Amino acid sequence: MVNNKRQSRQVRAGSLAIGGGAPVSLQSMTSCPLEDIAATITQIRSLEEAGAQMVRLAVRTEDHVVHLREICQHVSLPLCADIHFNYRIALGAIDAGIDKIRLNPGNIGERWKVEEVVRAAREHDVPIRIGVNGGSLDSKKYPQVTPQSLTDSAMDHVKILEDLHFNDMVISIKSSNILQTLQANRLLADLVEYPIHVGLTEAGYGLNCIVQSSVAIGSLLLEGIGDTIRVSMTGDPVEEIIVGRKILEAAELRRAPIHVISCPTCGRTDPDINLLELAKKTDQVLTSRFHDRIEASGKTVTVAVMGCEVNGPGEAAHADIGIAGGRGGKMLLFAGGEKLRKVDVRNAVEEMADELEVLLEKLL
Ligand code: SF4
Repeated sequence: MVNNKRQSRQVRAGSLAIGGGAPVSLQSMTSCPLEDIAATITQIRSLEEAGAQMVRLAVRTEDHVVHLREICQHVSLPLCADIHFNYRIALGAIDAGIDKIRLNPGNIGERWKVEEVVRAAREHDVPIRIGVNGGSLDSKKYPQVTPQSLTDSAMDHVKILEDLHFNDMVISIKSSNILQTLQANRLLADLVEYPIHVGLTEAGYGLNCIVQSSVAIGSLLLEGIGDTIRVSMTGDPVEEIIVGRKILEAAELRRAPIHVISCPTCGRTDPDINLLELAKKTDQVLTSRFHDRIEASGKTVTVAVMGCEVNGPGEAAHADIGIAGGRGGKMLLFAGGEKLRKVDVRNAVEEMADELEVLLEKLL
C-alpha cells in the first residue's frame, strides 16, 4: 500500500477528480483521425469499457473543432483536447465542451492569446495540462535534455499560468529514458502542488513497452508521485489501459477483485499437470462467474494455482482458494485456509469455482 502519497491540490476534468486524494486515474489517447467521428466514438467507448477514465484527442486544425463538438455530445467519459501552438483551437475546444486541454502556454505566442485561453478555461472550469517531453524541449533555451532542463521548461509554462492567477493545472514531464523521467518528476514534485500526470513517452510496443512503462510509472507511484497515468504504447490504445490497470493493481492503488497467483513450475511439477493452462482457465472461469459479485462487495479474493506439494500447500492455504499439484494428475484443493480433498486436474477449476461459491456465502 502506498502510504507516502504526495499531497496535491485537486482539479476536476468534468466528472473526474485528479489529485487531492482522488484515486490515481487512468487515461489513454485515441489513435484514429478526429474527423472520423464514428471511429473515434467507438474507440472512446472501447477505452471506457477497458477502464479508461479520461481520453485525450489530438485536435490538429480549427476545422476539426466541429468534429470534436459532435464527439463530446456522444460520449460520457471526460475528454481532453491535445493542442499545439494555435490558441484558436483551444478556444474552440473549450467552447465545444471539452473537459480538459493539454497545451503549453509558452508555445502559443503573444500574451493576449494565453490570456484569452485562460479566460475561457476559467469560465468553463476546464483545467490545463502542461506537458513537457524530452523530444520537444526548446533546444535553443535548453540545448541539453536533462532532468533539470525538463523541469525548468515545465516551470516556465507553469509560471505563465500562475502569473495570470490560473492554478487549475496538471503537469507532466516525460522522456523515453526511465531514469531521466524519474528524476525530473521528483524535482517537479518538490516544486509544485499541482497534480502530476505520469508516463514514459515513446516506450515502444509490446513486452518492451510493458516492462519499461511498469518500471517508470510503477517506481513513481510507489514513491507517492502521480495522480493520473498513461502508458504510451505503439498499437491499440486499449492495450495501454489494460497495462495501466495492471500497474495500478501492482502498486496497490487499484483493487483486482480476483487475484490469481501461480508458481513458475519446476521439475517437481507432475507432467500430467499443465499449470499455465490451469492458471489461465482459473482466471477465466472465476472471472466470468464471480467478478461482478466480488467487485460489488469491495473485497479481493486471492486464488493460488501451484505446481507441487512442496511449496504449493503453503501458498494454497494462505490464499482464499487454492490448488497444489500432486502426482498422477491429482491436486490438493484448499479453501479458506483448510485442506479439503484431492481432486482430478481435469476438474480442478470447476471444483475451485464450487468451493468459492460456498466461501463467498460466508465472506460477502
Ligand atoms: S510450487 Fe512446487 S512446482 Fe511450483 S515452482 Fe515451487 S517447488 Fe516448483
